[in-house]
Amino acid sequence: MGAVMIRCPRTGRAVSTEIETEPSVLSRLPEVASRMHCPLCGEEHVWTASEAWIEEPTLVPRKPGDGPGHGSSGGGSDGGGSNNK
Ligand SMILES: [Zn+2]
Repeated sequence: MGAVMIRCPRTGRAVSTEIETEPSVLSRLPEVASRMHCPLCGEEHVWTASEAWIEEPTLVPRKPGDGPGHGSSGGGSDGGGSNNK
């Protein structure tokens, strides 16, 4: 799942249509013009699926077995053996 993005013709920047779908769904959409209110320039843009793309959420791929390392760091008795009591 990702957000459907279009390019704002005013600012030339990518803007989200706030529609979330999968790339396979988007590619199968008919050429129907949709409207959206652009948060960048404040105008209404008409877009079709052919000019839109899916912005996948940027997930950092996890490497298997790349957990937090439990290094064996000393431990045990620190300090001298002097009991001042
Ligand atoms: Zn715009």
